[in-house]
Amino acid sequence: MPQDISIVLRPEDAANDNAIRRAVARSISIHVDEVAHFYITRKSIDARRGKVQVNLGVRVFRAGESVVDDRTVFTYHDVRNSKPVIIVGAGPAGLFAALRLIELGIKPIVVERGKAVSDRKRDIAMLNREHQLNPDSNYAFGEGGAGTFSDGKLYTRSKKRGDYKRILQILVDHGANPAILYEAHPHIGTNRLPGIITRIRETILQHGGEFLFNSRVDELLIESGIAVGVRLANGQRLKAEAVILATGHSARDIYHMLHNQGVTLEAKPFAMGVRVEHPQALIDSIQYHGIPRNEYLPAASYSLVHQVNGRGVYSFCMCPGGFIVPASTSADEVVVNGMSPSNRNSRWANSGIVVEIRLEDLADYASHGIFAGLEFQAYLEKLARLHGGYGVQAPAQRLVDFVDGRFSSNLPACSYHPGLNSSEMHLWLPDHIGARLREGFRAFGRKMKGFLTNEAVILGVESRTSSPIRIPRNPETLQHVQVQGLFPSGEGAGYAGGIVSSALDGSLVADAVGIFSSNRV
Ligand SMILES: Cc1cc2nc3c(=O)[nH]c(=O)nc-3n(C[C@H](O)[C@H](O)[C@H](O)COP(=O)(O)OP(=O)(O)OC[C@H]3O[C@@H](n4cnc5c(N)ncnc54)[C@H](O)[C@@H]3O)c2cc1C
Repeated sequence: MPQDISIVLRPEDAANDNAIRRAVARSISIHVDEVAHFYITRKSIDARRGKVQVNLGVRVFRAGESVVDDRTVFTYHDVRNSKPVIIVGAGPAGLFAALRLIELGIKPIVVERGKAVSDRKRDIAMLNREHQLNPDSNYAFGEGGAGTFSDGKLYTRSKKRGDYKRILQILVDHGANPAILYEAHPHIGTNRLPGIITRIRETILQHGGEFLFNSRVDELLIESGIAVGVRLANGQRLKAEAVILATGHSARDIYHMLHNQGVTLEAKPFAMGVRVEHPQALIDSIQYHGIPRNEYLPAASYSLVHQVNGRGVYSFCMCPGGFIVPASTSADEVVVNGMSPSNRNSRWANSGIVVEIRLEDLADYASHGIFAGLEFQAYLEKLARLHGGYGVQAPAQRLVDFVDGRFSSNLPACSYHPGLNSSEMHLWLPDHIGARLREGFRAFGRKMKGFLTNEAVILGVESRTSSPIRIPRNPETLQHVQVQGLFPSGEGAGYAGGIVSSALDGSLVADAVGIFSSNRV
């Protein structure tokens, strides 16, 4: 029987197989030659108490013990002639729903408003260089969805909602570094994600699934209370056994489309704020207690939370060694978000710092009914556009200036390619966000000495953290509460937040479609 053990090593030893082998042997009191084989099952960095150590979980096989490969193997069927199911949206929820349908012998037809990932790259470059935004092809829309040009962080708080290791294994099978299977805070990186997404598409196509790009869904076809297909912007009607709606939370038109078709929606709490950027060397120095970061240590990250007047203020989607990017989906708004390459080697560390927004905070928008949150989001994004000055230039302020309510007469160098415009954000951010952010930043400065500095800059606005709307579904069947055969999924439906949880939700919904489909036979 292999033995699972935990060891603690210096970072340089944790990167050296011989050092790990020696530590394993020491830990279980055997000679090093008796360690026939081992592999890492868990890896995390512990930088508390003034030193930096690596905690490893290791599975050890002694001489004579057979090494069993316990990775999940996926069986994808040929679904060319099977019943089709339409999946609207090729983000993590849509793509992982497609893979799961193929495992179940059902043919997915993935309908995506944006372009294939390689073509999408050109639109992203135009946005950064020329400020030209394609409303159907940008950081949020296109193959791979919102997480394609991202840090590719893969941790999730919703591990109980399904087998998240399956999701990681599928990513590894399509080219991700196997280390994501054991790292405590796995990430892929924006340079690697497009290749992985392309390979996932190839798997789906090879087994008989289909993709329609540049195909925006404008209407859900409903007959006798059952979803039977979709109508595309070009007028084409596609019929299917069921429809999985995985359109993400930036597709505001989809919520209006559903509402206009009489499909029930619900308002839900969400969060908004700003993105803050520090020099990475400063964050390293704070988190690693001044110990210089060497090749064995990753760019340091942080996770911060503080309660201010009954609302959480917290860091969101922290990107060590990353870049801030324009994540707008319409030319009259400015939205910021973050991404990192796989080696997280930029000079900057950025993170969203957002404030929880509850429905009672939106009294001024009550006339918009369930769209109150969406309208408030859009209002702030337009305000950011106005204060950004030009195109997707972002309004910005040095951090201490923001907290002290002062104009920044100049701004530090920043990773945001489209450029910054100095703006008195303390004056125009609504008080229930701005005042809480200022208090939150003060608290973060106390928790992480050096965090509250004018070397840091904030950019507005970080508004797309989660969906302000839920498309309610039956918890048992995962179908919409009112329209049979309609399966809302992922972040836009309000059932996930992040790449892994959206992928997990897509897989779960595909299972539910399998049951729905077999009951119809
Ligand atoms: C810049 C950035 C960085 C991020 N970094 C991370 C990270 O590091 N880790 C993490 O976990 N999460 C990250 N996220 C969030 C993550 O990307 C989302 O949580 C996740 O992608 C949601 O998955 P989804 O499949 O539900 O929706 P999405 O990924 O939003 O996909 C929805 C898809 O539906 C398509 N679509 C929309 N409307 C229509 C229509 N009418 N017809 C046809 N197609 C349509 C869209 O084009 C899109 O491709 C990041 C997001 C951004 C923008």
